[in-house]
Amino acid sequence: SLNTVNNGSLKHDDYLHGLANGKLVAKQMIGDALRQRVESIDSEFCEPGDEDTFFVADLGEVYRQHLRWKLNLPRVKPFYAVKCHPDERLLQLLAALGTGFDCASKAEIEQVLRMGVDPSRIIYAQPCKTNSYLRYVAQQGVRQMTFDNADELRKIARLYPDAELFLRILTDDSSSLCRFSMKFGASLDSTDGLLGLARQLGLNVVGVSFHVGSGASDPTAFLKAVQDAHVVFQQAAAYGYNLKTLDVGGGFCSDDTFEQMANVLRAALDEYFPAHTGVNLIAEPGRYYASSAFTLACNIIARRTIQDGSAVSVSDSSSMSDDGSVNNGDARYMVYVNDGLYGNFSSIMFDHQHPVAKILRAGGRTMYNSVAAHESSAEDAIEYSIWGPTCDGIDRITESIRFREILDVGDWLYFEDMGAYTKCSATTFNGFSNEHDVIYVCSEPGAMALLGL
Ligand code: PLP
Repeated sequence: SLNTVNNGSLKHDDYLHGLANGKLVAKQMIGDALRQRVESIDSEFCEPGDEDTFFVADLGEVYRQHLRWKLNLPRVKPFYAVKCHPDERLLQLLAALGTGFDCASKAEIEQVLRMGVDPSRIIYAQPCKTNSYLRYVAQQGVRQMTFDNADELRKIARLYPDAELFLRILTDDSSSLCRFSMKFGASLDSTDGLLGLARQLGLNVVGVSFHVGSGASDPTAFLKAVQDAHVVFQQAAAYGYNLKTLDVGGGFCSDDTFEQMANVLRAALDEYFPAHTGVNLIAEPGRYYASSAFTLACNIIARRTIQDGSAVSVSDSSSMSDDGSVNNGDARYMVYVNDGLYGNFSSIMFDHQHPVAKILRAGGRTMYNSVAAHESSAEDAIEYSIWGPTCDGIDRITESIRFREILDVGDWLYFEDMGAYTKCSATTFNGFSNEHDVIYVCSEPGAMALLGL
């Protein structure tokens, strides 16, 4: 197993070996947790809510992601972006791993402080802060925070003159899924003036921060942002500021693009902020840690049969077999599940995601991670669209997907990579709960040891 997380001696080959092993164990554990739960529920007889959607979270995956981070960006200390998924156990594990935390509101800061995390491990990374929150963080001794405009500097001078300030600069975020630069970030035309004003107000500027946009895909955005940050470090020096920290923000994905991003970023940091300068490097990854750790299971609560483009009425039994299921190869189905765009699939709307359904249980068989669970490209496979439970027509998860299996009411689907920007932005629209069970598993003994399990 991968249990060398904090002594820094992990070799790349050991990591890859441990990774493959850990992934296998994870599949087994997640599968067992999903299976146990859904096999215990009979939608014909269960109590309201028993068949509710639920998550399985593998904390071992978070641990593996942390090792991967340390291998690829060893000089950069991650401050997890709490907004992405403020799951208590996830935060506890990250705290035990020694990360810092990026918080954007009083509630997030309170949650992290409640865990006993030292205020010096928090950055209040919100360039436009609420007055009362600023007074709160001043009381709590959370000193690090970002700014990007003159009004905010004057506010900070009034409410928290001792704060340690990071000047957030504008980036080219055009390759990212969620763009922030129309809202946040000082252009390089304005940074000199802002540093001058900070000096005049007697404020303590300690670093520069940026964010290349969440779900970024162009590594050169990191290179350009690091170059710009280097310019601002020099501008600051002209005002007598000896900046000590660069915050490279988020934008990292958990898929294979991470290594490409990290390679470009690492090289840029080594060129512009080499180790001998003594500049601390931090980052604010959210999606990178949370996304792949959470799998979501949803129950099929209703089905509508479509024949030749129109819904089949109940009285039209010509296409139905004895048990009521349609066996005509031309039929398509709309299936309705008990989670949707107003719930954990809010990521479709806000985070521009395309979650992919897989079959967890159909026709009395549980089929997690089997070939039959997956989408089929075969022409004769059955076409489905997948819809959420609310009355809004926008509430559609998948327009078209084909499976070889017949899906019906009471069957289950699952969706992987559902940890980032999902639960945190789920609403209770139509009276559907956004409080869903999370079943925790841990595929890495090293993580269990850290959590004292
Ligand atoms: N930092 C800031 C200031 C953010 O606004 C966000 C996302 O909104 C993040 C970090 C996390 O970004 P990501 O999930 O891309 O890592």
